[in-house]
Amino acid sequence: MKVKFWSKMTGMLAGAIVAVFFIGFAAVSQVMNADAIMSGQEQGITSSFPVMAESDSQVIPMKALLLTASAQDFSPTSLQNMYYNRADRAIRIPKAGGTRMGFTVAQHVDLYQQYQYILILPADASGHLGFGTLRISDPLLRSVTIEQNAQGNTQLIFQGEQILALEVLEDAANYYIRIMHPREKYPLIVVIDPGHGGSDPGAISRGIRESDLNLAVSRYLIELIEAGGEVKAYTIRNSDIGMEVRERAYFGNRVGDLFVSIHHNASRDPGVHGIETLYSRRQVTASSLDSQTFAEIMQRNKADELGSRELRVRSRGFAVLRHTTIPAAMVELGFMSNARELDRMVTEEFQRSAARAIYNGILETFEAYTPPR
Ligand SMILES: [Zn+2]
Repeated sequence: MKVKFWSKMTGMLAGAIVAVFFIGFAAVSQVMNADAIMSGQEQGITSSFPVMAESDSQVIPMKALLLTASAQDFSPTSLQNMYYNRADRAIRIPKAGGTRMGFTVAQHVDLYQQYQYILILPADASGHLGFGTLRISDPLLRSVTIEQNAQGNTQLIFQGEQILALEVLEDAANYYIRIMHPREKYPLIVVIDPGHGGSDPGAISRGIRESDLNLAVSRYLIELIEAGGEVKAYTIRNSDIGMEVRERAYFGNRVGDLFVSIHHNASRDPGVHGIETLYSRRQVTASSLDSQTFAEIMQRNKADELGSRELRVRSRGFAVLRHTTIPAAMVELGFMSNARELDRMVTEEFQRSAARAIYNGILETFEAYTPPR
């Protein structure tokens, strides 16, 4: 899809060069001419998808001209000035004469756990765009809703059928919103799995639940990743909820390049302490990086940052590791059954150091490993 899209565009780059601005992730290598996205394309769309006409529906004002399949695609709405190009999953919004809607400086809110992506414009654009929901019924994108938020600004809510990403572009005459699979947009993606949660607390020691420690470290880790900006992170959970372990693996497989499961250990012997990193030898992966190598990188970074005693990097048949098809490691940050380690684990200082160690390990891995695209 991506190759087809870009090559098609490259063929059309002969037109005038116009300024194009990217929002969000900056590491898009291709120079994009936004004019080329649509010119010529809408002809094809028009012929394969009937253009909305007044007679097709009583609920659509004539000026609402959305290029899409049928009248059932619309809820009662005043949507207007949007053109959806199904082939390239791109929405074109003509600029109103001199109206600044601020699409390129819109705030991006990625509510991926609900498969939602929201663009919040810095202005009220309802006069130009109207309100309502457009059902797209694409395998990636279910619908787009345009509404006003509490501040009176216009927001566009993209409801996916799965996790989606998007990119905003502009030229002199139009804005373009490209709907993408995360792997089309982000060159490096890590999926974080804070172990346990919900009805499964994991290990418990002195009333402290492993699930809470795992979540605390993962939150600091996500902070670091987002501040760094090189890597896109998705987390399995950002609160005390549970998810079946195979589901966690499938989540990682759908969108991730690396999978990091965060855990804290426990042993019947209170003297046991130190850090372990686990992977599965039984994993089936087409990746050029094997999980053992990834686990060794993670273990070394933990040792450097935390100064803990290094236990083994070893293969274990845990389902979350076995069912992932991307390089996956389970990082154990120490033993909750050891009094001295537990004393450290509950401190913010340790949790931030652990997050830093995992972050460094992810960056080091991506320096040596380029995920397939
Ligand atoms: Zn655990």
